[in-house]
Amino acid sequence: MSTDGVIATAERIRKGERSAEEVTRAALDGIWAKDGALHAFLHVAGESALEQARAVDAKRARGEVLGPLAGVPVAVKDGISTRGIPTTAASKILAGYVPAYDATVIDRLRAADAVIVGKTNMDEFAMGSSTENSAFGVTRNPWDLGRTPGGSSGGSAAAVAAGLVPCALGSDTGGSIRQPASFTGTVGIKPTYGRVSRYGLIAFASSLDQVGPLARDVRSAARVLEAIAGRDPHDATSLEAPAAGLEAACGGSVRGLRVGVPEEYFAEGLDAEVAESVRAAIRDLEGEGCVVRSVKLPHTRFAVATYYVLAPAEASSNLARFDGVRYGLRVTSGELRQMYGATRDAGFGPEVKRRILLGTFVLSSGYYDAYYGKAQRVRTLVRRDFDEAFREVDVICSPTAPTPAFRLGEKVDDPLAMYLGDVYTLPASLAGVPAMSVPCGMTSAGLPVGLQIVARPLDEAAMLRVASAWEARRPEDE
Ligand code: GLN
Repeated sequence: MSTDGVIATAERIRKGERSAEEVTRAALDGIWAKDGALHAFLHVAGESALEQARAVDAKRARGEVLGPLAGVPVAVKDGISTRGIPTTAASKILAGYVPAYDATVIDRLRAADAVIVGKTNMDEFAMGSSTENSAFGVTRNPWDLGRTPGGSSGGSAAAVAAGLVPCALGSDTGGSIRQPASFTGTVGIKPTYGRVSRYGLIAFASSLDQVGPLARDVRSAARVLEAIAGRDPHDATSLEAPAAGLEAACGGSVRGLRVGVPEEYFAEGLDAEVAESVRAAIRDLEGEGCVVRSVKLPHTRFAVATYYVLAPAEASSNLARFDGVRYGLRVTSGELRQMYGATRDAGFGPEVKRRILLGTFVLSSGYYDAYYGKAQRVRTLVRRDFDEAFREVDVICSPTAPTPAFRLGEKVDDPLAMYLGDVYTLPASLAGVPAMSVPCGMTSAGLPVGLQIVARPLDEAAMLRVASAWEARRPEDE
């Protein structure tokens, strides 16, 4: 792990020990040297990054106070709009699209004096769990180049894990920040639904999508979350919830905090080494004074089916806008309808087409009640499971994913196997509650394992306290 974390980088720049320009140049050099093997980046914005860095240095030279992310290089998932920087969501249909505006999270990163260094690879339109659905090639896991970094925010996770940047933004609809964090030994946070604005995030499933940070340590991730969170008049679903104090929650005591362990999450299909690492972490938390008890989340077994009805339904509607008229690719062919069809046929990859078909089917009259309506009702039951459990406990701990990083190619031809790997991250997404993954040991093959921590709506502070208490105990050599 070569570069400093977010906190140390910002501190050095604020003190003037290093200039933002120097830090940015070092990050860009690292990317040019190492990203050939990883392919974490789809686009490196070298010139604009150096310009931003020089602006931070000039601000300091004028004696102004620098923001909390002073000069920190940040990589951004390519589904997040960046003004003047190509944004494709890893889809051919958006090739050549350069947004005319910044997403609100990007505005906020800039306001905190961060430096955007580039855009990271992902599954096309964030649909997938391995980054293999990108139209522009796969990303490799820095721990084992034959394996996936997870997905869909695999590029962001790989960039952070390889030390190319101290932090990155991802988006999480059903696990796309947490599962890649787990596969790459990084920290990833999916905030409470509504905590962070989605204005400028290319929509996948709007009732689930959230933007969040990936970093190498808990405090760094908390600082980035604090910078991007908060009400945004451009996003009606964003909440009026103050984010101040999230970083301060790191390092707080966990004595007496009640930790729930859902036995449904330790069932068939869970890798034995993952189970052991997670159970050991929970024992350690007990050692820190947490009160551990078992909780029930009985509707967990319906989460995969529910999510894979709802998310495609929403996607089929959200993706209707890509028709060759407004953005990116256009395939001219006969009259208007033919142009729509030809553009969408050439522009979307197989997984995106599968989801549009599935989503259109579950929303069609005659099937709506049987599938979409039913899934909405089951979603309510999943949410109630959490409401019940959070009467008894303050946080819930589980594995983030049932296995460590799998091999590239292992599941690409078996969408169901790919979907089943999301079993532990989907419930918190359906319930809208905050959840994060924090590194929790290694398998005997040297692959990272992730501990998932889930909390009550808007109680990211409790989750961060537990994560940092565990992190503080973690042996240094991991
Ligand atoms: N793996 C899930 C899917 O394929 C979740 C993706 C995400 O969170 N964006 O839909």
